[in-house]
Order: sequence, then structure tokens, then C-alpha cells
Amino acid sequence: MTAKGFTTTALHLDRWAKPEHGAMHKPIHTSIAFGYENAEDLAAIFQGRQKGFAYSRQANPTVQALENRVTAFENGIGSVCFATGMAALGAIFFAFLKRDDHIVSSEFLFGNTASMLSTLEQIGVSVTFVDATNVEKVREAITPKTRLVLVETIANPATQVADLERIGDLCHQRNLLYVVDNTVTSPYLYQPKLAKATFSVNSLSKYIGGHGAALGGSVTDCGVHDWSNDPGIFEGYKASTAVEQWGLVQLRRKGLRDFGGTLSPEAANTLSLGSETMALRLERSSDNAQKLSEFLASQKAVVEVNYPGLSTHPQHALAKRLFKRPSALLSFALDDKYDPIAFMSSLKVVVNSTNLGDTRTLGIAVAPTIFFELGRERRAAMGIREGLIRISVGIEDIEDLLADFAQALQNLG
Ligand SMILES: *Cc1c(COP(=O)(O)O)cnc(C)c1O
Repeated sequence: MTAKGFTTTALHLDRWAKPEHGAMHKPIHTSIAFGYENAEDLAAIFQGRQKGFAYSRQANPTVQALENRVTAFENGIGSVCFATGMAALGAIFFAFLKRDDHIVSSEFLFGNTASMLSTLEQIGVSVTFVDATNVEKVREAITPKTRLVLVETIANPATQVADLERIGDLCHQRNLLYVVDNTVTSPYLYQPKLAKATFSVNSLSKYIGGHGAALGGSVTDCGVHDWSNDPGIFEGYKASTAVEQWGLVQLRRKGLRDFGGTLSPEAANTLSLGSETMALRLERSSDNAQKLSEFLASQKAVVEVNYPGLSTHPQHALAKRLFKRPSALLSFALDDKYDPIAFMSSLKVVVNSTNLGDTRTLGIAVAPTIFFELGRERRAAMGIREGLIRISVGIEDIEDLLADFAQALQNLG
């Protein structure tokens, strides 16, 4: 972060970079390619001797403005944006892993990320899933082949909080890539750099964009990892760039240019606009989530409420110490005798939807939808009850949210 506060920076960062015509927002540059009068300039850009744009799959001015924004939010040294959060995660694996490498991953994982890791296993990368709330489980799983450790700050949907700092110290000692998915906290609530993360990953589709109106993902190099000792950097990148930049150069070339999950300038603009109000939205939605989780915990029909802001949450103290607020994701389980699908259908303000981080409150019955593909056994291992309901709390008036849940609970009879 620059010397200014989070929201001041979010509002003025584009302008400080002196965009065209004194614009308040970085304009949308839709050009795929960029032309030069002097052929030497284009050659210099290709060779990294000169800053500039050549082809928008790899870099684009509007997307770059968003990358600078995410870097400021994360207090990192640079960021690369992608078409989606999944493309961002995939790019890291694609750019930095090779056959026979080993990943230690949290077992409390976004469903599509778990699915992607199972795909990696088919192409010769092995994965060990561990309880990442306990650093000792991570330590035990590390082998001489381990290259990367992956965790989420607050896991979705059961809200386990990873032992972020201890795992970071461990990765730092062992020179492992430490990838922290910061999506559920967002850089307003937490900066993974504080836990010595190599990369902080965000699905920009969620709290950063904030309005459910554009997909995007980002990877930020937190400036902590020692790339000079890293066995995964291509020799060809070493001569032409400063050692601190090696990770970013490889991520941009192998992970973005070659992998091709490029963010469109139109989406980058929508995400940038949304990010201006990130702090306001997260303060409000965290307030709402706290009140809603307390209300749900007081209900007879509710047998479990997961929210790091509740004193009953196993990592409540840790979450309180690490995060500015406990964020706005919660989950709860109804008594087995009730049908979670029928319950969800009786909600009127809350939208039945799979997304999270929207301004609107969204809810979904977890087992029959987002975690259906994993099967009952894997769900149980991940701590997911069959009746679990996930709520991404929005910024509505809290009275309306409480009234909606109260009427739906009454409907259960
Ligand atoms: C949504 C999400 C992703 C994937 O992001 P997309 O932008 O939807 O591809 C990754 N990790 C977490 C924790 C998420 O919630």
C-alpha cells in the first residue's frame, strides 16, 4: 500500500498515474496489438529492454491499471491479472511446476480448485491434502519433491482459517512456493504478505469487483520469496531481468502469454470501478454477517453455524488477530430432519445462487450443488455436512435479511 489509506488509494490511484486527458478512470483500451513507427522500439519491448505494449494477450494498458491497483491493495511488488480466479491458480501451477513435483494443499478448498488439483495428478504432479489449520500436518506432508504449499485464508464453505503465519514460516525456511488464496478475505481485510506468502491469489469476481458483474483473477508477488534460489525458474529469463522480477516474468510469460487466460479490458474496467468501494462494502457485509450468524446460532432448528466472527468458531482468536473483519461468508446446517433445498426455496430476499462476494446476499445448499461432484466421503473429510447451507452476506438492510431468515425458519414448522 502507498502512504495513503486503502480507500483514498482505491479512488485516486488511476489519476495519480496520469491517464490520458486527465481521466478519473483509466480508459478502456480495446486494441489487441500496438504499433510502433520505429521497429527498434518493438524489438526492445519484446526483449524487455523497454516498457510498452505489444499484444494484449500478455499486457494491456487497462488491465495493467488494474494490476497496479491489486499490487497496491496487496502491498506486493507486482501483479498479473487473468480472465478468472481459476485461470490465476492454473497459471501458477502451469508456470512453476513440472512432472514429479509435489504439492501440499489444504483439504479445505474451493471445489473447483480441488478438481483442478485432481487434474494435475493425472499429468504427474502429486498432491497431499492436509488439515491446514494445523502447521504440523503441513510439515509432516512435505517431502523432498514438494515445491508448493496451497492454502485459503478462510475456506469456503465451512470457514476454517489456515494457520497462515506458521505455514508461511515453514515454507520460507524450506524455500517452498507458498500460495495463499485470499479471495474470501480480500486484500482489504488481509494481506498474505504478512504471512510470508510467495503469491497472493484473488478471484476478482468476488469482493474486489464486488457486484457480480465481471469475472477476473489476480496473482500478486508479495516480494518475500527468494527467486535466486528457486529451482523452477527458466534459465532464459534470468539474464535479462532483476532477480526480484523472475517470478513475475515467468508468471506473465509462461502463465499468461502461453496459457492464455487473459482478462479483457472491459472486464478490467468493471472490476476497477467495483474495487473503489471494496472497504465500504466489506465493512457493511461483515457487520451483516456477524448479526446474521448470531441470529442463526440462537435458532433451535440450526445445529451448526460456521463464521469466524463467532466466539464458538475454532479459529476465532486467530481470525480476530489476523483479519480486519471476519468477512461476509458464513455457513450453517439445519437439523437433519429438515430439507435444506425446501428451506432455500422459501427465502425471498436471499437469492439462490452459487456466487459469493456480491452486493446481494446469495445462498446455496452445498452438498447437492458446488460439492456434489466430490461425493459424500470427500465432503465428510472436508468437514461439510450434507445439510450445509452457504450464505454470502451482502450489503442489504440487516432488518430485511433477519426477517427473511426468520420467516423461512418459521415455515419449517
Ligand atoms: C470463486 C473462487 C475461486 C475461482 O474464482 P473464479 O473467478 O470464479 O474463477 C477461487 N478460489 C476461491 C476461494 C473462490 O471463492
